Amino acid sequence: MKPEHIEPFFAALAAAKPEPKTELEYKSDFELLCAVLLSAQATDVSVNRATRTLFAVAATPAQMLALGLEGLQAHIQSIGLYRSKARHLLQSCQMLIERHGGQVPRTRAELEALPGVGRKTANVVLNEAFGEPTLAVDTHVFRLANRTGLAPGRTPLQVEQGLLARIPPAYLRHAHHWLILHGRYVCKARQPLCDQCRVAAWCDTWAERGAERGAKPDTKPSANP
Ligand code: SF4
Repeated sequence: MKPEHIEPFFAALAAAKPEPKTELEYKSDFELLCAVLLSAQATDVSVNRATRTLFAVAATPAQMLALGLEGLQAHIQSIGLYRSKARHLLQSCQMLIERHGGQVPRTRAELEALPGVGRKTANVVLNEAFGEPTLAVDTHVFRLANRTGLAPGRTPLQVEQGLLARIPPAYLRHAHHWLILHGRYVCKARQPLCDQCRVAAWCDTWAERGAERGAKPDTKPSANP
């Protein structure tokens, strides 16, 4: 993607959803941390279904620990990898109580020290809970960054660094959500909805397909949902 295309690309995404939010349901920083930890390789819908009943009985690290391993597993068994996630979540709750007074820490190092919390989870929590301009690269962001040419890379870390270097500061705060939502609902993995894509005019893949069709590279698609 040409440098001069990046600003209008994000302006178009921002115009459609000025204040994007995660689709995970939570009412506190702790619930957000739990939901993101549980969401690895699982859909937000499946996580929300499980956490609605879980958070009703365990909304703090102490309450989560009180459930015990079997009690917690019973709430989240519909989520993939639930056994290891339950173990990590309880270990993290123990550390939150022992090291952070039961609060979610605000630094990357402290977050990544929690069992089951990697760079992606830490980025989501830093961005969503504390407003940091971090960028979590999940499967949707990774695909979109490569397809559009915004930040091509072979690894999530390469893509993350490319995005942080190229996205204008004014758009960094919400870029993660805009990219996830666009990847999830429009630039889908198997069948991207290019003819309904509001950022097609600045997308490398659209330009390449347009060139194959003999169209001008910056030709916009017919619809802009
Ligand atoms: S034009 Fe197609 S490939 Fe490019 S961002 Fe839109 S949906 Fe994805």
